[in-house]
Amino acid sequence: MKKLGKYSIGLGDRFGHQGHAQLKAITEAGKKGIDITPVWNKSNREHLIIGTQPSDVRIEADSAVRKAAFKKPYFIDADHINLDTVDKFIPSSDFFTIDVASYIGKRAFDGEIATYIDNAGKYIGKLEVPGIKKSLKCSLKQLADIAEKYLFAAKKAGEIYRKIEKSKGAGNFITEVSMDEVAQPQTPVELFFILAMLGIEGVPVQTIAPKFSGRFNKGVDYAGDPLRFASEFEEDLMVVSFAANEFGLPENIKISVHSGSDKFAIYPHIRSLLLKHNKGVHLKTAGTTWLEEVTGLAEAGGTALEFVKEIYAHSLEKIEELCAPYADVIDIDTNKLPSAGEVSVWNGSKFAASLRHDQGNPYYNPNMRQLIHVAYKLAAQKMDIYFRLLEEHEEVVSQCVFDNIYYRHILRLF
Ligand SMILES: [Zn+2]
Repeated sequence: MKKLGKYSIGLGDRFGHQGHAQLKAITEAGKKGIDITPVWNKSNREHLIIGTQPSDVRIEADSAVRKAAFKKPYFIDADHINLDTVDKFIPSSDFFTIDVASYIGKRAFDGEIATYIDNAGKYIGKLEVPGIKKSLKCSLKQLADIAEKYLFAAKKAGEIYRKIEKSKGAGNFITEVSMDEVAQPQTPVELFFILAMLGIEGVPVQTIAPKFSGRFNKGVDYAGDPLRFASEFEEDLMVVSFAANEFGLPENIKISVHSGSDKFAIYPHIRSLLLKHNKGVHLKTAGTTWLEEVTGLAEAGGTALEFVKEIYAHSLEKIEELCAPYADVIDIDTNKLPSAGEVSVWNGSKFAASLRHDQGNPYYNPNMRQLIHVAYKLAAQKMDIYFRLLEEHEEVVSQCVFDNIYYRHILRLF
């Protein structure tokens, strides 16, 4: 059976040019004794916006792995798929993030809800989870509410899982279940009962992505109370282990942190809790590799700098259209965006410094960073020029990609 290692990182590579630089970060970590499984992820939304196919991710990853003679496991993640989108991902993926967000809140049949409450009834009143000092409260009413909110979604996860299993065979792929793209965070108690549902449905979930409290905006730091996050994350860790035992889920099950790129304020908490409890994690990053490509091109100067300035100017004009698909995961203060006119006279280092996530740099602008984060569509519209520039400035760009994954992510978290 394919098993996901203790530490794994989801890497996004929207334009399929940085697999080697990303893999180099993984190999460097390996030399320091940090064993991380790389997982290349790309969602249907990204494929549609760029005009790529799931098989492109497989080709790029396989070629990066072959060139680097990387001998350890790696995976291709069909990121945020559901019943409508899974089919085209099946041949080339061996990791499936089953996204149940759109099914949450839809009601299962009364009979199904009643059966579930019967099954889980023994936890009413006394939910003692090893490692959590206070006992978690759970009333019948609460259990019924959780069943009404999540049972339908869990059943859909089962349906999607079985569809994949039918064509790939059990044990030949990793299953993740995600529910992060919703408005309300899930509490540790909810997480426990959701795992119970997945256990009953027979979904061998190896990693689960809850929505945590606080905001996980794309490519910028965590917005919320890091201490509150830490106590929630610790309870989730305990709940996941306990649930795995109780419901026959894979023993290596772990939490997946989505929009995990650049959540520097919570990395020290995640890191110390993983060490404290000897647990693993899947950190899903995406989009920041594209940001590093833009940063690298800015640093390269000349026509490359002109190109990224044009992308920025264009993104200001198209801001609403670009932000719409990402409304829940970005937070841009448009008053703090420099105008195209201002940016037109910047040199490459100022542009790069505005974009690079270095909070100590006075030029760093998280609003501009988020806007460029969602503006990759504009580069996709000029793919020929963009690819030519990436290839021309390969050295500086891949250095940016490597530094980001290795220094700002891996060394801080693992
Ligand atoms: Zn997600």
